[in-house]
Order: sequence, then structure tokens, then C-alpha cells
Amino acid sequence: MRTGLYPGTFDPVTLGHVDIIGRAMALVDRLVIGVAINRDKSPLFTLEERVAMVQAECAAITLRTGGEIVVHPFENLLIDCARDVGATVILRGLRAVADFEYEFQMVGMNRALDASIETVFLMADARRQAIASKLVKEIARLGGDVSKFVTPPVAAALAARYARAG
Ligand code: ADP
Repeated sequence: MRTGLYPGTFDPVTLGHVDIIGRAMALVDRLVIGVAINRDKSPLFTLEERVAMVQAECAAITLRTGGEIVVHPFENLLIDCARDVGATVILRGLRAVADFEYEFQMVGMNRALDASIETVFLMADARRQAIASKLVKEIARLGGDVSKFVTPPVAAALAARYARAG
């Protein structure tokens, strides 16, 4: 049984993430989605909110793909998280050339820490490649329509958050 770890901030989970999760399910038997606490990025949503949103998306994905998805918050080193959950492969999404430099460094460092864990990169469907949580938040903050980028519950959560913020 092959376990994969798909780590990220998921602030909030987008249709880009959902696309990658669906593809990852075709490669592993059990997918652990590692939701990073990521204090450095000052997330808009709390860890609990991000985990709940990812869990809701995953319920729909497992209905479609079968297999097992576990949502796992983590704060430690990625490679330690992978070991903790028994993952032999780390899955990451690649959007554009801009992602490459950082991901390239991450693979090098993680491989030096544990050569037995492989990193695999996936690309979303063309219509979903450009979606980024950061831009979705910016559009929602300015009152734009995010329905092409996130599911309705996530769009509602964004609208509620920015309505409260004024
Ligand atoms: P991080 O802080 O680790 O970048 P994100 O939640 O922004 O967390 O992204 C998690 C992973 O999902 C990363 O590998 C990122 O490249 C990937 N990803 C996010 N959006 C997309 C997308 N639209 N297409 C492909 N991969 C994506």
C-alpha cells in the first residue's frame, strides 16, 4: 500500500488543489493532505478552518475516486511529517516556471535529509493551472467573483471573512 503526502497551506483550498488531489489519488492508495500551520505566511483562515474546508472537498473527491484521504495538520519539518504518516512519496503541484526555483531547492534539501522519499510533481488541467490562493483572496477582498476558482462553500467562507473585515 502506497501512501503519499500532499503538503500545502490551503489558505483556502482552491479548484487547483482539488485538481491535484484527484490526480494524486490515481498514483497512491492513501493520500495524506498535510495542512501546514505556516505562521510565517499569516494565513487568512485558522488552521482549523483550513482543515475543515479541505476535509469537505475531500469527501466529494473520495466519492468520485475511491481510495482513502486523510487530512493532517502539521508544524514540523516536511520530511518528518512524511515519515510520521508513513508516506514514501511527496506530491506537489507545479503552476508555472515561477514555482520551479523554490520547488527545485526543496527537493534538493529534502533529498539530502531523506533520500528514500521521492517528490513527484503534478500539473493541473489547463483551466486550473493559474489558480493561486493568494490571488483568489485578493479578488474576494475586492468583491470580485471567485466562483471559477473555488467551490461554493469556500467562496461563501471568503465572502463572510471579508464582509466581517469590512
Ligand atoms: P504552499 O504554501 O506549500 O505553496 P499552497 O497551498 O499554496 O501551499 O500550495 C500547495 C501545493 O499545491 C503546492 O505544491 C502548489 O504548487 C500546488 N498548487 C496550488 N495551486 C495549484 C494549481 N492551480 N495548479 C497546480 N498546483 C497548484
